[in-house]
Amino acid sequence: MHDLLIKGGTVVTASGIKTLDIVVDDGLITSLSTNDLNLEDFKEVIDAVGMIVVPGGIEPHAHIGGPRQPERSGAGPVSMAALFGGTTTVLDFATQIPGHDLYHALEEAEERWSGNAYTDYAYHPILTNGADEDSISQINQLTRDGIASFKIFTTSIRPPSPQMQNNHTDFGRLGTIMERVSEAGSILLVHSEDDEMVHYNYDRLKESDEWEWWNMHRVHTNQSEDVSFRRVSRLSELKNCPIYFVHVSAREGVQEVARSRAAGLPIYGETLHNYACFTYEDYRNKDGMKYHTYPSLKGEEDRDSLWDGLMEGTLSTLATDLVSTTWEEKIKFKTVADVTGGHNGIETRMGVAYTEGVVKRGMSLERFVDITSTNAAKIMGLYPRKGVISPGSDADITIMDPSVDKELSLADLHLEDYSIWEGYKIKGWPKTVVHRGKIVVTDGELLSKPSYGEFLPRCISGEILRGPAC
Ligand SMILES: [Zn+2]
Repeated sequence: MHDLLIKGGTVVTASGIKTLDIVVDDGLITSLSTNDLNLEDFKEVIDAVGMIVVPGGIEPHAHIGGPRQPERSGAGPVSMAALFGGTTTVLDFATQIPGHDLYHALEEAEERWSGNAYTDYAYHPILTNGADEDSISQINQLTRDGIASFKIFTTSIRPPSPQMQNNHTDFGRLGTIMERVSEAGSILLVHSEDDEMVHYNYDRLKESDEWEWWNMHRVHTNQSEDVSFRRVSRLSELKNCPIYFVHVSAREGVQEVARSRAAGLPIYGETLHNYACFTYEDYRNKDGMKYHTYPSLKGEEDRDSLWDGLMEGTLSTLATDLVSTTWEEKIKFKTVADVTGGHNGIETRMGVAYTEGVVKRGMSLERFVDITSTNAAKIMGLYPRKGVISPGSDADITIMDPSVDKELSLADLHLEDYSIWEGYKIKGWPKTVVHRGKIVVTDGELLSKPSYGEFLPRCISGEILRGPAC
């Protein structure tokens, strides 16, 4: 007797798209079959005829709230919404705070997740302003313990204020961090903007009294992304350090990722589904700060360039940069200096990628799977346990119904009291989600519990670390 059969779906595997039956036992995919299997040999059967069957989504970029960020939603509501949206793994951050090391940051992250995890999860430790030698030297041991990615910011994203921790890492220290990451066999996530340009721009807008939030793209500019990406990729070349540029927002960013990958460097780019669908013109709408995520929305040409990058392979992943707050919190601040960043779209990521990519732009299903799951698994060291429908892999499977054709309303969504995707016309949406062999969502019903998610130790393959492998 087998546990589960997913029958007759259009299955996207690493070796192509086929009509297959997926056999699941003890949480794992045990075989893929084209034979007529006897239904009586299975405890449960999902009829997937007419459905698109893909690996469970992997969200590589989410900021989960905890006691120090009470305005942000925590792991429970966020991971539940992720499941409804077809995402079964979430990567959060573990932010260092002044006077404490990376292990302390990890303890805080574990407190947030433990007992609250509907999805599997892992964390990227963030080294913050002035990170000391002790913290930097922990990169090696942490990598061996399965924490395989670290993050830095090349700018503090806002003007100095008592409320805002300064996350800026200077290029001197960055060089040392890159050396440690390289030696350890991990990867460095970089929020890459030119600190001097960003803060000069803040000063200039303040002087000219253009302080409203809709000027955000004039602070966090294309040129700042251009200059900073080049500087980071050049330093990474000197230090032999693999880089993952989070939230590429500008055409210049896409171009620099393309240039460095063409030169053989292990550099990867991520963009966000709100960056791919909105522009800074949308900031001008009523309550248009709801669209804002740092660095900033850019123009139409940039948006087109992000899609080119996603379609052609220059950009590897589509993430959310989740910071989930209530509507009241999201629209509370109205200036470039304090507007609330973050995007509560973890539930819409796969449906929007399917609609915008596959339906509207003719993206292949393989590419859709790459940007929503496989590439994040490979780059972050979860592959092949995650990110692929293959015997031996975890049975994390999202069954998309391509016939769904409707406007999203808040009643469809499960996180917070607003969404920038309210009213968005979706074509294709997750119908059933299987997480380590268990049916966790079906037809809008949640069948899992917040103690089911597990922490995932990670190890990145040499292929990813040596050159641009996906
Ligand atoms: Zn972020």
